[in-house]
Amino acid sequence: MRYDYSKITERLLGWYRENARTLPWRSDPKPYYVWISEIMLQQTRVEAVKGYFNRFIKDLPDIGALAEVEEDKLLKLWEGLGYYNRARNLKKAAVLVKEKYNGELPADYKELLELPGIGSYTAGAICSIAYGVPVPAVDGNVLRVTKRLSAGYEDITKDSVKKTLFLELLEDMPKKEAGAFNQALMELGAVVCIPNGKPLCEKCPVACYCLAYQQGVAMELPVRPVKKGRKIEEKTVLLLEYQGKVGIHKRGGKGLLAGMWEFPGLEGKLDIGSMERVLEENQIKEYTMELLGEAKHVFSHIEWHMLGYRIRIEKKSREFEEQELFSELVWAAREELEKGYALPSAFKAYKEG
Ligand code: SF4
Repeated sequence: MRYDYSKITERLLGWYRENARTLPWRSDPKPYYVWISEIMLQQTRVEAVKGYFNRFIKDLPDIGALAEVEEDKLLKLWEGLGYYNRARNLKKAAVLVKEKYNGELPADYKELLELPGIGSYTAGAICSIAYGVPVPAVDGNVLRVTKRLSAGYEDITKDSVKKTLFLELLEDMPKKEAGAFNQALMELGAVVCIPNGKPLCEKCPVACYCLAYQQGVAMELPVRPVKKGRKIEEKTVLLLEYQGKVGIHKRGGKGLLAGMWEFPGLEGKLDIGSMERVLEENQIKEYTMELLGEAKHVFSHIEWHMLGYRIRIEKKSREFEEQELFSELVWAAREELEKGYALPSAFKAYKEG
């Protein structure tokens, strides 16, 4: 028999009214604010998003400003949040909203789904939170809470499972407080029915309706298949310094971190002897070299295992800039690196210099 989510509504909403965290996008849930915050919150913790959100809204206060922003500035505002295509899609969608909807995000679930970067979850969140339209917003928190409430052992990574849950919630959610209901489920997942470690069932307002709690199986749920291992890529990162500036270049337009700035690098972790040979082959003759040590950055499917070197170039030979490794370098002062160039957080360990 399917679980009836309508029975948790009253207790859940009562708890949410008392316990909802104050968040910048919650106090004024304009459609634009809801949209930006929800995209930022994918893969990033609420606490970390607050600062990014405030900065983004200050610089790009509305859809018109977002539609016109230069890509470099946009990526700089996004720097540190990762998954940079999300930022590019925001801009693409803003351009469409400006052209097609007069700069106002539509309040229609299907129309929202047509916009770049807006999937079922974000469309549901915008509809319900900003416009009060009763549409579920099924994210990881909601999947976890509902599968525990119903003691459901279905694989939550399957689209069919998400779709069924969407339809069940659509039927069961309160039609007048859709936004609060969705946010309350997410909030419960974030602070009580937590993802890592033991859920705080003794503090849960809906424990009396929770089958997983009653059966003592909350820690087994939700079910997801074991992830395949990530691909490991080893690389050497070069912090090239010349006359107080640092050499950076732009990555290609496709693939991982497309279009972002980065320190030049080489495949594999090179030892000092190999580095000396590379520098000689690339016409760097007068320099000092310092080992900066190892660093690791984890993307969703790849891990970068890096080894960094600072190379202080005393004198650039004429042939230097003709070398492929250094051909498209831009030399930036440290302050410019902070303000003007979006350098992915993958390089954080070497950025401070
Ligand atoms: Fe989650 Fe425990 Fe509440 Fe059930 S009782 S919803 S497992 S926190």
